[in-house]
Amino acid sequence: MMQFNLDTCVGYHDKVLLALMVAADKNQFILGENVRAFEKEWAEFNNAAFCVGVGNGTDALRIAMLALGVKPGDEVISPAHNVSYTALAVTSIGAKNVYVDVDPKTMLMDLNQIEALITPKTRAIIPVHLYGQMVNMAELHAIARQYSLLLIEDAAQAHGARHETQPPGTFSDAAAFSFYPTKNLGAWGEAGGIITNTPAVAERARMLRDGGRIDRYIHFLPGINSGLDELQAAVLRAKLPYLKQSNEARRDLALRYTEELAGVGDLQFQHEQIDTENVWHLFVIRTASRDKLMAYLKTQDIPSLIHYPVIIPDQPFAIADAQGQGPFPVSRECASEVLSLPMFPAMTEVEQAKVIDAVKRFYSNVF
Ligand SMILES: *Cc1c(COP(=O)(O)O)cnc(C)c1O
Repeated sequence: MMQFNLDTCVGYHDKVLLALMVAADKNQFILGENVRAFEKEWAEFNNAAFCVGVGNGTDALRIAMLALGVKPGDEVISPAHNVSYTALAVTSIGAKNVYVDVDPKTMLMDLNQIEALITPKTRAIIPVHLYGQMVNMAELHAIARQYSLLLIEDAAQAHGARHETQPPGTFSDAAAFSFYPTKNLGAWGEAGGIITNTPAVAERARMLRDGGRIDRYIHFLPGINSGLDELQAAVLRAKLPYLKQSNEARRDLALRYTEELAGVGDLQFQHEQIDTENVWHLFVIRTASRDKLMAYLKTQDIPSLIHYPVIIPDQPFAIADAQGQGPFPVSRECASEVLSLPMFPAMTEVEQAKVIDAVKRFYSNVF
């Protein structure tokens, strides 16, 4: 079966191993020099003033909200078509999820539907840059400012992405990243980070991830224990210099898929906005025959995945809070039609041709 190949066959594998050995030799495993250095490097990469390394992307969202003062009972708006972790972070701090449907072309949060959802309790909006394409942040920022709402970006799928040349974090109070192994910049374990340009937010986030401590013995805030792991920081530092080229490799693969599969069956692709730099975290197609296509690809030894088959307001953890919301017709349609084709930076043309041929073969039989 074709593998979702992560790091083993690419040039930096040895560099990562070496970085791990050097870091382990320092015998300093908690919030050490690699964490500090990665925070500086990741902030610079995103033209941001600060980065605070945390344990994973979900904690990045959670700590960003806490640092910005989102409180239990506050309403937080995020997209219905998404991975669950965004809404789980909101739920974990006692805030209420309010879901917005997505745009049928981009499959991103529909900015035209946000204002209708704003109530006196609304405190924040979390745009999710799904599949590697950023939400139009300049436009969203105007809405947030008009209603004095906080903006926290879920940039877990958007390492290196730009909208109108601006990286995540530019138009918001904070942006949260995950460095889960399969993300565009992935650790060899769990890791996350928050970027912000506001000194007080960075300071509070730093305190919150470290048990809310202000010194060794005094826990000032009800913080959590979620620092970026020192060894993972060493891995991330070793891999960061390769992020641009691996994003380019993804883009080349995405372009080839789009060219080769245009007009095949009823296939549709994620529409790209003008002036966007998509980093193609996933290559997602849409088709009414999704389940059949997926089953056929499996018979051809080609793995495909669904991101995501259940809309968030229908998730068991979310149902009670989502009562009366919706009905989210576009998100539901996405959930039943999307399929992610194999896509990873080290994928070869031969491997990709095999996928393309199989998809074409499927449609030549179906239609
Ligand atoms: C991966 C992901 C998260 C969660 O990150 P973890 O590091 O797994 O906690 C949140 N939001 C989105 C959009 C993601 O893709």
